[in-house]
Amino acid sequence: MGVIMPDGLRAQILVEAQGAYPRECCGLIEGLIETGRFRITALHPSRNLAKAADRFDIDPRDQFAAYKTARAQHRAIIGCYHSHPNGRAEPSAMDLAGAGEENFLWLIASNESVNAFVYLDGRFDGAEWVTSSE
Ligand SMILES: [Zn+2]
Repeated sequence: MGVIMPDGLRAQILVEAQGAYPRECCGLIEGLIETGRFRITALHPSRNLAKAADRFDIDPRDQFAAYKTARAQHRAIIGCYHSHPNGRAEPSAMDLAGAGEENFLWLIASNESVNAFVYLDGRFDGAEWVTSSE
């Protein structure tokens, strides 16, 4: 799968990750699923309810608001994002344990990197950034 994300949104994730440090930032991703790719149109930052610093737990109130806003735009919540303040920009064992929604995009930020993964059939597959010509 490919992923299209405006540069401004990538910068936004990195700013949120810095702001949340040493905890994880988290949020939901609004967009469209097109043939063979995810198109990200907006991010919905969420409060992180997790007690431990190395976890994230999206506040259900923020989740509800994000789904409502996305629906109003005729878009969907196609994924989530969070940061790994002292880790690598790839899914942890806890991320795998917490993943549930199929064909869901996961963006993970660490340092200056943001990597994309798709959860499907019980595992994460790496996704590629696609530069949109539109
Ligand atoms: Zn994680």
